[in-house]
Amino acid sequence: MPSDDIKDIYRQLVRKLEERCRLGGVMGVMHWDQEVIMPHGGAESRAMQMAALAGVLHEKSVDPFLGDLISKLINLEPDEFTGVEWCNIREAKREFDLETKIPKELVQEIAELGSRGHQVWAKAREENRFEDFAPILERFIILKSKWAEHAFPEMEPYDANLDIYERGMTMDRLSPIFENLKNELIPLIRSIKNSGMKPDDSFLEGDFPIDKQEALGNSISRDMGFNFDKGRMDVSVHPFCGGGHPTDVRITTRYRTENFIESLFAVIHETGHGLYEQGRMAACLDLPVSEPLTMAVHESQSLFWERMIAQGKSFSIRYLDKFKEVFPDFLKGVSADSLFRAINVCRPSFIRVEADELTYPVHIILRYEIEKSLFDGTLKVKDLPDAWNDKMEEYLGIRPSTDTLGALQDVHWSGGAFGYFPSYTLGAMYACQFYNKMIVDIKDIPERIEQGDLACIKTWLNENIHRQGRLYSPDQLAEKVTGQILEPDIFINYLKTKYNTIYGLN
Ligand code: ZN
Repeated sequence: MPSDDIKDIYRQLVRKLEERCRLGGVMGVMHWDQEVIMPHGGAESRAMQMAALAGVLHEKSVDPFLGDLISKLINLEPDEFTGVEWCNIREAKREFDLETKIPKELVQEIAELGSRGHQVWAKAREENRFEDFAPILERFIILKSKWAEHAFPEMEPYDANLDIYERGMTMDRLSPIFENLKNELIPLIRSIKNSGMKPDDSFLEGDFPIDKQEALGNSISRDMGFNFDKGRMDVSVHPFCGGGHPTDVRITTRYRTENFIESLFAVIHETGHGLYEQGRMAACLDLPVSEPLTMAVHESQSLFWERMIAQGKSFSIRYLDKFKEVFPDFLKGVSADSLFRAINVCRPSFIRVEADELTYPVHIILRYEIEKSLFDGTLKVKDLPDAWNDKMEEYLGIRPSTDTLGALQDVHWSGGAFGYFPSYTLGAMYACQFYNKMIVDIKDIPERIEQGDLACIKTWLNENIHRQGRLYSPDQLAEKVTGQILEPDIFINYLKTKYNTIYGLN
């Protein structure tokens, strides 16, 4: 094919992809509006508007003309294109295949079960009635297994579900990683408990006016480099990062007057996600190549700031005085060292979203093991609550007294999102591995943080991660940035060193 023709076909593809991306942006703004400022009365009409837009998006995604353009390009030699162009073609192909391979009735049933499932789950959680939610879960496992057969017929059903969030990840690879992590963390958590040492974190409780918390969150988000000309921060029930475009990134948090650290850390976490969005490659903002790579890599960016930076000692050294200035009635006599210990307390608890850095992965491994056995049939839905509670007791030494505190706590399964949970811990591992490389590249990171220079961190992440978009697979990216693919031992060693020191073990 003469090269001018190829260029023309590629240009047509780009126009199609940009249009779809822009409609997706409209959906993003509508979703943000729904979560942040929409009056309750608007819920029904908004649901219908979003369903209508989802229908338009789906039609655009399965347009045979789009399929034609892709098939004309995908069989050519990659070296006829730049890396960016080839990535857009590859991504368009993956998306098109996924959208067209699933029968329409199945797509519809999954969508319907998702919206009904959410309501049933919310009520079941409130009333502690797992049996009301069980039929939804049973149906979802059947539907998501069928979905997997269509989407990725060559894969095990659960692997196909994993692949949606972390492409390339499989049970064969993940199980030994999690097994090893579990074997290292459980004894460490137990030793901490047996040490009897309980760092004082009582000074984190108090009466912290919301306007002051908001001003503090804003200023730290700004210090991290969040661009408020291309983003904003609001309040929602569950903190999230959304919006319509990398030039319009909306992050949210929530406030409790009794505790300022929770909302502040939500701000830091969501700012980490927001910086990834704002840092995407400027030339291709409406194309797949600039999109964040995977769910785990996205999470690595929020956890990088939350865990590796804000839970580090240098951050406490830098910000203690600021905290005291904003809340003069509290934190009197508190040292940077005691603040650091207080925000790194390890205390097994029932609820994942409230879990600390060390016990969090155990919550994830528990869910992974349960999902895997639901898909391979070794666990029946009716036995799920007991399996959950047994594992909780075995791993963390605590047993939930209700399913509200156990198997009903997370929203994910109510929408059929299986295979999602591992992204959180894979993200923590990536964050740690990236951090380990950054401190080699920039030797005086602790001193810089103590002096308030967070810009160097953002720049490093912009260059190494954000601007790479989807040019590489997660393994290729990790190798390019750190010299090796995902290496869980880096994470394990980091946790052991940090918590052995804090709790005076060994
Ligand atoms: Zn996150």
